[in-house]
Amino acid sequence: MPHYTPPLRDMQFVLHEVFHAVEELRHIPRHADLDIDTINSVLEEGGKFAKEIIFPLNQSGDAEGCTYDRQDHSVSTPSGFAEAYRQFREAGWTGLACQAEFGGQGLPIVVNQAFYEMLNSANQAWAMYPGLTHGAYAALEAHGTPEQKSTYLPKMTSGEWTGTMCLTEPHCGTDLGLMRTKAEPQPNGTYHITGEKIFISAGEHDMADNIIHLVLARLPDAPAGIKGISLFIVPKFHVNADGSLGQRNGIHCGGLEHKMGIKASATCQMVLENAVGTLVGQPHKGMHGMFVMMNAARLGVGNQSLGLTEVAYQNALAYAKERYQMGNAIIHHPDVRKMLLTAKAYAEGGRALEAFCALLLEKEHYHPDAKVRSESGELLALLTPIAKAFLTDNGHIATNACMQVLGGHGFIRQWGMEQLVRDNRINMIYEGTNTIQSLDLLGRKVLSNNGATLRKFGKLIAQLVEEEGVNEKMSEFITPIAALGDKLTKFTMEIGFKGLQNPDEVGAAAVDYLRATGHLVFGYLFARMAQTALRQVAAGHTDTFYLGKLQTARFYFAKLFPESTSALLSARTGSKVLMHTEAALR
Ligand SMILES: Cc1cc2nc3c(=O)[nH]c(=O)nc-3n(C[C@H](O)[C@H](O)[C@H](O)COP(=O)(O)OP(=O)(O)OC[C@H]3O[C@@H](n4cnc5c(N)ncnc54)[C@H](O)[C@@H]3O)c2cc1C
Repeated sequence: MPHYTPPLRDMQFVLHEVFHAVEELRHIPRHADLDIDTINSVLEEGGKFAKEIIFPLNQSGDAEGCTYDRQDHSVSTPSGFAEAYRQFREAGWTGLACQAEFGGQGLPIVVNQAFYEMLNSANQAWAMYPGLTHGAYAALEAHGTPEQKSTYLPKMTSGEWTGTMCLTEPHCGTDLGLMRTKAEPQPNGTYHITGEKIFISAGEHDMADNIIHLVLARLPDAPAGIKGISLFIVPKFHVNADGSLGQRNGIHCGGLEHKMGIKASATCQMVLENAVGTLVGQPHKGMHGMFVMMNAARLGVGNQSLGLTEVAYQNALAYAKERYQMGNAIIHHPDVRKMLLTAKAYAEGGRALEAFCALLLEKEHYHPDAKVRSESGELLALLTPIAKAFLTDNGHIATNACMQVLGGHGFIRQWGMEQLVRDNRINMIYEGTNTIQSLDLLGRKVLSNNGATLRKFGKLIAQLVEEEGVNEKMSEFITPIAALGDKLTKFTMEIGFKGLQNPDEVGAAAVDYLRATGHLVFGYLFARMAQTALRQVAAGHTDTFYLGKLQTARFYFAKLFPESTSALLSARTGSKVLMHTEAALR
């Protein structure tokens, strides 16, 4: 049977020793009294909940899946899911990082993110129900009217109501400009929305009293394409003036998708027939609100793969110690160690990146200094596609490596490893495929400002070089990232120039570019983790924990980081080898 132990010590290392999160966050008024003990005890309790309540439902949920009732269009989640959600809600976990004015506990986003890593390790499919609500909450918090906020946010904070994001339609996924769902303005200021959405996670279920759908649709006078899309709140049940639930709205689930993984997450076809909605933000500017949700969700998806990577690693490690072949435990074989260390390094780098991004997100929203807010936002915009695509691709590599450690047993259900491989696969696809993330990174985040934001990230590396440049013990970590930074800067200028002449050059290089940039970011984070560990060792800590951090960092630079060289080599080959292939692809 699979097992899971919340990696609390690793989380504390990243939060308190590498990033000094409490010191950083105390500059933000709502966290002025924050302390390390509070964070640690919340994560300890959260870890217990994930391990004891959610994890035991992972394999059973996968086997049972969700069921759809054609008669009343209802969806039942697997046995135990609704009860676990009730306990989750009653314990106050739904509002951990929500604002106090809506009934939340107002803890930092980074704490919620670490908590969700554990929920994702325990059961990604279950964690999606409350996880999506966070994205919807963030969009309404940023773009809702005071009335919309007071109607919906307290109930979403308490978890009595959950949220969804309804973008995808049968003919339109990546290109939302093709959207057909229509919104007709009504004399009373509401809209009647009609259309069909597909693949809507948590679109219908039996875990909450109401479901708040955030729906993209087109107004009658909308300009064509992506600039003509508006955002609406469409509740499953209407909400009366006193906050009680009214009649059923004109939105229902038309069926469930049967799929490869996350089988316990209800992936719904949603039918809207004159469903009553209210507009969020300005007409035709719906993508502004939706991007708040999508950016939160992109970090969330990276966090899903981080969770899967961690739990896969833990189970592969235990197996490798106990499985004897040829008179020895298989952990003694170099290649088995390589697979285990790959998963461990991708979990540790991923955890550092997710925490780094969550701290930026907090500063972007709540820091009192406008300059800090805008700089944090800029850096986060650069890192978000990397957190989404690099972590989910790494999750694919890591869960597959862990399955390989188990040999044939990895392929057999009872061990739980094949489920982790299947569950991770969707993370590379939804929330914008990883190709789309790479185009976002290279096209929108890097080339659109001639590499200015990338240079800001380069400044962080330069700062580390300045601090540690004369420290011989750090040179094995610093030299490679400084060299990769130079190569990436040079390539960015080259591709910027080529892209002006032929946009396919950008499309042909983008995925490789994201892999190389991902390694630059991971290299920086591993160097900071090594710096922290070296300082602790120098201070006399003989704890194997710090030695383990150093060994993982060395493995990362020796065995995984060199992929950046081949990625840049491949990025440089240009578009011709892909586009002049009519004979090959006929
Ligand atoms: C389990 C599951 C849950 C989901 N949950 C939700 C949800 O809650 N809400 C929601 O709205 N949607 C949801 N989705 C939809 C998901 O976000 C889309 O499937 C995804 O964005 C891709 O869209 P598509 O499937 O239409 O693929 P397409 O857009 O048709 O893309 C097909 C392929 O073409 C590539 N491609 C497309 N355009 C370009 C381009 N310009 N340049 C290069 N390559 C390109 C893509 O990368 C991909 O490889 C979910 C999907 C699944 C399977």
